[in-house]
Amino acid sequence: MKEQLLLLQKKALYLLPLALFVYTWYLYFSLIKAEKQNEKIEVPNLVFEAKRFVHLDLKGAPPKVSYYKHLFPFLAKLGTNGLLIEYEDMFPYSGDTLKHIPAENAYTLQEIATINSLAEENNLTVIPLVQTFGHLEFLLKLKKFKFLREVPKYPQVICPTHNMTLHILSEMLRQVIQAHPKSTMIHIGADEVYHIGECDRCKLDMYNHKLTNQQLFIRHIKRIASHIKLRYPHIKILMWDDEFRNIPIEELQNSGLNALVELVIWKYASNVLSEVGFELFNKYADIFKTLWFASAFKGATGSNKYLTSIEHHVSNHESWMEIYKRYKAKIWLPATINNYR
Ligand SMILES: [Zn+2]
Repeated sequence: MKEQLLLLQKKALYLLPLALFVYTWYLYFSLIKAEKQNEKIEVPNLVFEAKRFVHLDLKGAPPKVSYYKHLFPFLAKLGTNGLLIEYEDMFPYSGDTLKHIPAENAYTLQEIATINSLAEENNLTVIPLVQTFGHLEFLLKLKKFKFLREVPKYPQVICPTHNMTLHILSEMLRQVIQAHPKSTMIHIGADEVYHIGECDRCKLDMYNHKLTNQQLFIRHIKRIASHIKLRYPHIKILMWDDEFRNIPIEELQNSGLNALVELVIWKYASNVLSEVGFELFNKYADIFKTLWFASAFKGATGSNKYLTSIEHHVSNHESWMEIYKRYKAKIWLPATINNYR
């Protein structure tokens, strides 16, 4: 009996590689089958006049350029009109100051030109995204740029009153704009700016100019946006909306920002209206002629999630469609941005 068991174990050991081999081929064929099925995808003719953009957030696991050859035609087939590309440290920043930013696997300028032409071949408009206030971790985590942190402990927010800030941001914008000669829009980020007016320099400046945190935020964005408008008058500027949510309507009106930027309202909740409220949309609709909105089809439900909750993200999209129907007569909604992270 014992011998028979040993024999069986031996056989199992021989059979295991064979089983794995068969399973690998099975997976391979399944993938080919899935790819062939993709070719047959038929997109229903949705009653949706706005354009659809996909946000490529390249932090973490950026695709190789060769992958875009497959991805872009697929996205175009699904009805995508454009791409919002957030390079972070995947952009080949150069020059004495910025040469420290790019990751080791950053794209080359030649590769970015390839991305642009692949997008063009698939009728996808490219909007590059350069963060200009918060979410500058890829810059502020570096020793070389630590001195620009608003709070020394956190690499999230750049200090808006440091005299090097505008210099560095404008050079980053210049290089990214230059690498996208056909793009007529740029996104300046500015979401989730968790620390405003916390360093001594900012505090003193706010005291001297009698500014609130919100006014300091507005002033920095105005400086960035005016800088872009002055040098590139043909470029439309987009930014995330969340820092404006708690700013009173009068403050926003007086800021004149509606003449400089277009807002992209993002919310990834399953019920957007119940979280954000009608008042916000009414407030924005009173000030801005054009609004964009952003949904998410994965992520954004917690940092410790292994699986995507499809139900959550379908609800998120349905919820945005409701808002679209409700507001399309009142404001111009040129596009939606779908977050692909
Ligand atoms: Zn500061």
